[in-house]
This record gives sequence, structure tokens and C-alpha cells, in this order.
Amino acid sequence: MSAIAGQLLDWHRVHGRHDLPWQHDRSPYRVWVSEIMLQQTQVATVIPYYLRFMARFPDVAALADAPLDEVLHHWSGLGYYARARNLHRAAQRVRDEFGGRFPESFDAIEALPGIGRSTAGAILALSRGARHPILDGNAKRVLARRFGVTEASGGAAAQRRLWALADAHTPVADVAGYTQAIMDLGATVCVRTRPLCPLCPLQADCVAHRMHRTQQIPAPRARPRAARRVREVVMLVALRADGAVLLERRPPEGIWGGLWCLPEFATERAARGYAAAELHGAEFVTQALAPVPHAFTHFDLVITPLLARCPVAMMAHEADRTLWYDRRAPARVGLPAPVQQILASLT
Ligand code: SF4
Repeated sequence: MSAIAGQLLDWHRVHGRHDLPWQHDRSPYRVWVSEIMLQQTQVATVIPYYLRFMARFPDVAALADAPLDEVLHHWSGLGYYARARNLHRAAQRVRDEFGGRFPESFDAIEALPGIGRSTAGAILALSRGARHPILDGNAKRVLARRFGVTEASGGAAAQRRLWALADAHTPVADVAGYTQAIMDLGATVCVRTRPLCPLCPLQADCVAHRMHRTQQIPAPRARPRAARRVREVVMLVALRADGAVLLERRPPEGIWGGLWCLPEFATERAARGYAAAELHGAEFVTQALAPVPHAFTHFDLVITPLLARCPVAMMAHEADRTLWYDRRAPARVGLPAPVQQILASLT
């Protein structure tokens, strides 16, 4: 076992996290769902989502057989909804191609939608103790700093070197413990800004620490990030007298793919034109709702909600594409966080 593996395992026994929900009953399915949820989201945020998800979809068959709306409903607010769509598609492949048993082979797991090399490795390492290296964001940061990998993040050279290091230091024994340890160290000690080096078991031989370069390593991406864009949209809040609100299903791919959203328009004029054509009797209430900002990874969205009160009798309904959402008995569908926020603000 490499010195690093030993240091990480010793540290983890005392300081690691041992009672996260996905650390109990470590089946490949439970580990898989946790790894996907944790890809872009902090542990504290993930825990309640994970518990609700597991209560509703306790195994791969339950997930595969559920309607996508129900899966997105349980993902609402967690963001990066392609993750949920891929989980659902992958569960259906496991049901249809593997008889409902999560595959045991690395290649079969890596071929499932939404699962890359690191996630496939983590699933097998954590649930089966099989020796596979991982290279998630936390492991990458720890290895890059410990070994002074100065090549630009995300570039082919850095990736090659980091995978080689990950492979070289993954032990044969207690792979699950080591995998959890390197992820925990990255999440709690070797954090992105201001790592807690005095608490780190790797400090004595850490290149970035010795060179006072923890802020430069890992190196930023080679391509500078484009300046953040701001996108402004108008969302029509068609509120019926019985309290129901008109929602539309988004296309299956892209932002909020498959979720249900307020009808979106580039301009207020377009929203009013739609209402005039489709929502007979609608009356606009000006300046009733405050704009809602929402940050995506690459741009900021500013939503101006436009409230229109509609008679109960009016109809604008195409099954499967539109829905009058009854807030007192809500349909189990996925809603983006800002839409939830706007609905909650309606009296
Ligand atoms: S010593 Fe500091 S920079 Fe190096 S691995 Fe530990 S926490 Fe990260």
C-alpha cells in the first residue's frame, strides 16, 4: 500500500464521515444514486433529497418503472436535471438489459447514461470493494496539490497524469475506505479556497503546501471562461380563479428539460399576445410580482413574472404539454426552483 493510502486511511478512521445515508447498505444502486446527486451538489443539500428519493425509489426496478415526471418531482430544486433524466434512462436499461440486476462489470456500468469513468469506479469501489481508481473533483484537487500537478485543469495532460496518480495510489485492500477517505479529505480539508493544511495527513510531503502554491494548484482551465451572460425572460403566471396556474412541459433536453414551467417569452408583448390568443378573458395585473433572479453555471437568468387572472371556465390545455397546476393538490411533476418560488409567492 502506498504511503498516501495509509495516511488517508488512518486519517479517515478518526476524522472521516461514517454515517452518511448512502454509507449504510452500500448496494451499487444506493451508491450510484448518491454519486450522481453529489456530482454538482454539497452533501448537506443532498441528504434530504437522497432520503426522499430512496423512500420513493428503493431499488432500480422502482426507479425504472416510475414515470419521468415523478422522478423529476423528487429532483425538483436539486438542479442539473440531466442527471435525473439519465438516472431514469439508465435504470430502464438495467431493467431491460440486465434483468433488473445492477451490472457488476466496469465496462457495463460505464456504458450506462450519465456514468463516467470516475463514477463507475466509485460505484464498484464503494459497493463491492473492487479496486478501481476514482477522479472526482475532490480527488483531483487532493492529488494535484499533493503531487504538484501544474498542467491546466481539464487538459489532456493533466487528466493523464492525475489518472495515473489515482491508479498508482489506490490500494488493493480497503478500497472502499480509501475512496471515501480521498473524497472526504477533498470535501472537508483540502477545500478549493484556503485548504486546512495543518489538519491534513498529507501535509509533510505536499508539493503545493511546501511551495505555498495551494491557490494556484489545481491550475485554472486553459481556456478563460467567457464573461457571464444575463438572460432576461418574461414568464406568464396565468392564475385561475380556483387557484390553479398554467404550466407547460419543457422540451426533453436542455435547461430544465422535462420539467414543468410557467410559459416563457422573450418579451412582455409576446406574453400578452399569447394570453390574448389562448387565454380568453385573462386580465393582467401589472407590477404584481417581483423579478426573480436565478444563477446557472454559465449565465444568470432574470425572470419577470407577469400575472394574469383568468376565469375558471377558460381552457388552454393540451394533454401532455400543458397543465393547470392545482397548488392545493399539486401534481407530482418536476418544477424548477424559481418556478416553485413564484408559485409560493402567489396569495
Ligand atoms: S497539505 Fe494542504 S494542499 Fe496539500 S493535500 Fe493537504 S490540505 Fe491539500
